[in-house]
Parts: sequence; structure tokens; C-alpha cells
Amino acid sequence: MTARRLTLICDRLFDGAALRRGHWRLEVAGERIAALRPVDPRERPPHDAWDVRDATVLPGLCNAHVHIARAGLFGPSEPISLAQVQRNLEVTLRAGVTTVGDMGCAAPLVVGLRRRAAAEPGSGPAVLAAGPIVTAPLGYPLDWLSPRLASLGVVETCASSASAARAVERLSAAGVDHVKVAVMHESYGGKALPVMPTPVLAAVVSAAHAAGLRVLAHAHSAADYRAALHGGVDALMHSAFDPLDGQTLARVRDAGVPVCPTLWVFEAACRGAEARWDRDPRYGGVAPDWVRREWGAFCDAYAAAGAVMPAGIAAGLPKARAREAVRVAAANLLLLRDAGVPLGFGTDAAYGFCLHGRPQDELYAMHRAGLGAVECLRAATGGAAALLGRRDRGVLAPGARADLLVVDGDPTSDLAAIERVRAVVAAGRVVVGTGGRAATGPGTSDGPVARAARDLATRVAVARGLLATVAAGAKRALRVNAR
Ligand SMILES: [Zn+2]
Repeated sequence: MTARRLTLICDRLFDGAALRRGHWRLEVAGERIAALRPVDPRERPPHDAWDVRDATVLPGLCNAHVHIARAGLFGPSEPISLAQVQRNLEVTLRAGVTTVGDMGCAAPLVVGLRRRAAAEPGSGPAVLAAGPIVTAPLGYPLDWLSPRLASLGVVETCASSASAARAVERLSAAGVDHVKVAVMHESYGGKALPVMPTPVLAAVVSAAHAAGLRVLAHAHSAADYRAALHGGVDALMHSAFDPLDGQTLARVRDAGVPVCPTLWVFEAACRGAEARWDRDPRYGGVAPDWVRREWGAFCDAYAAAGAVMPAGIAAGLPKARAREAVRVAAANLLLLRDAGVPLGFGTDAAYGFCLHGRPQDELYAMHRAGLGAVECLRAATGGAAALLGRRDRGVLAPGARADLLVVDGDPTSDLAAIERVRAVVAAGRVVVGTGGRAATGPGTSDGPVARAARDLATRVAVARGLLATVAAGAKRALRVNAR
């Protein structure tokens, strides 16, 4: 892997907002895009330039909602392994995703992932992490998280404005990149849940803003959206499962707050269980065998559960309501688009059939909902980056982080081209492919030694994070016992 000068010659580029044609030269110096300018086709490029005039150059994709440690089971509890975290990071990068927003894990894991990224830049996407989810006592996700997992520090509960400020202080000290709050009045299974009162939520937001952190709200209904906006959050994660009325839409638009729809994770649950994707050979190399075996158990339970959803996702909810929720979520996406609400992009991977390394699944779901290909790509580049407060990426412009995705074909007219990855550059480092027909372009120096060093760096960094997680959980348990 190299961090050096790189020049691309292209005649089709999507800059994070729109497609540009013509003859372009994009220059990378170090970690940044140094120049992007139209050039005379007769001008001779440097001898080692990538000639990608038969492809499309885009910014590296940004997936604003992932759970980077998960492998894809249904249900909240999952064994976390170093190998799995590393695999998730690798497949994410190989699919052209150069930044992810992790939306909930123990704070030490955040630190471990950051150490890993520092030890070996370019070995995974940039991970911007929320750390523990901030919620009301007994609020989401404590309605379904096992007490053991909760005790490992993946949730911060706030009963008062003072405890909200302290929780944000702890998160900020742990080094999170943003704060995720749960504002969910009704569980996935349809049961009432406590949420933070507006003053407590507002205290989270004001403490976060004072610390320079954005607040992203896990929200699933029009009422959730309104409550989250009332508290002053910066983004709404997930679709509402009930129709968004005109007043709510106007409030979202007027707040200028982006929405990340995460359609596929819910759509895939019913579709995959009915079509038995656990047995689908297309998932053979994509999901680990042990995950596919667990999928099999979920599919069996789904079939046996009759008219309601089985344990694992929205347990007890009538399947008819689950399907309706997916339809309504898709319709809401168009309402938001038509209202002029900025859209983000996130997969919520890995959860069930929604996996890391498959951004296309969510892109296609947004496309099926009625968004144009350009709108989908905008959400998955500049839109998602802006949602995470990182305007230095998701765009092709001088000064931006040199995250590039080169694909065969034109994804702005044929979205499926997004899967035809030719090259990925992350922060100026070539991490996949060689880009052009020119064999002289800088390639990946991913030999066995580099690879072994990378593996070791990951293991050490993530193990530190996991050990710290366990230590923090043990400390907490001791504290609870001492009380
Ligand atoms: Zn999530």
C-alpha cells in the first residue's frame, strides 16, 4: 500500500452530488485530493496516470449506520471475534465503502478500532463510532438486550439532565465521534417503551454539542421523529414505520436534519426467511457458515411462528404489520425526498440478511422505493458524510479526503455498476485494484508479510479494545455488587 501521488484521467465522474462528463484530471497528493480540473484531451498525462476513461470515478462510499463487530445473526447477542471484526472491515473496504459510522458498541472497542486504523492506515474504512447508545432507563435497546451484554457498557442510561451531561462526558472522554440516542416510543414488537423526557434529551444534545459531537437519533415513528427534533438532535436514523404526516415532514425539513432510511435490514428479514436465503448458494461465500446455520434456525422459527414474527426481529409483531411497515418506510422516503429533506445512507449491517460488504442491497432498496440512481448515490456519498458531520469526504473536490471508488460502467444510469468495483483508494492509499488499463499504475503491495503485519496490528488493537470492554464490564459489575 502506498500513500503517494496518484493521477487519474477520466471522462465520467460522480462528484458526490452530480455526474460530470468531459475530460478530467484528478490528482491525489498524500491523503487528499490535490486537484480536479477539466483538461484538454490532447494534454499528455503523467506516464503513470491511471487511464479510467472507460469507467466511472466516485467518492468512496459512506455507510453512516453499521455495527462493525457484528457478523449477521438475528437478535442482539452475538459472539464478537477479532477475526470477524477484521473480516467486516475488509469486505466493507473492498465494496468501496471508505467511511462507516458505527452506531453502538462498547466505548473501548471504539478506541481499539481507532488504534488499529492508526497502526495500519488503509487496512479498513475510517470508523466513526458512537460507542454506547444513550437511552432512558429501560428504554430501547434495554427491552431486548441481554443484561450481560448491557453490563458490558454498550448502553448509557440517563434518568436526569445531570446524568445526561455526565454520560456525554464519559463518552467524550472515551473518544467517540458522535452520540447516538434512542428515541423510540414503541418497541419493534409493538410494546410501549420509556424515552428520555425532552429536557433530558436536550441536556444530552447540549452537552454533546459543547463537546463538538453530533447527536444521531434512533427513531422509528412520526412521534419519535418529532420528539427527537424537539430535543434538538442532528440526524434521524431509520425510517418511520407509520406514515409521516405533512406537519412532521415540515418539521424535519425546517430543522434541516438529514434522515438515514435503513430500508433493507427490515425488508430482508421477511423476504429472506420466506425465500430461505440460509440455503441460497449466493450467500455461500458472503456469510460465514456459522451465521448461515443461525439463519436456518431463524427461518425455521419464522415458518413455525405462523402469523407473527419470531424471536430475533420484532418478535410477536404480526407479519402483516411488519410487511406494511416496510411499505410505509419506502413511501416515507419519497415523501422526505419530495419535501427536500437531505438523505443519508446506512445499512445497519450486520443484522440477519443485511451484511457488511453489500452496500448495494440498501442502494437497490432505496431505488425500488422510487429514488433515482443519482439520488441513491448522493445519499451514499456526500449525504451520508454530511450526516456524520464529515464534509471532508463523500465528495470529489480539491482538499477532500482522497477516498475514491472506480467502477466499470455508469452507476448513475445503471445502479448495478456499483458492484463492479475496479479500484478503491482510501485516504490516498490504493487498497483495491490498480485502477486503469495502464499497468503502470501503483498497485497494492499486499504481500504475505504486509498482510501478516496487518493481521497482527488488528489483533492487538481489537484485543486491547475487547479486554478493556470486559474489564469495564467487570468493574461495573463489581460496582453494582458493592452497592
Ligand atoms: Zn443499528
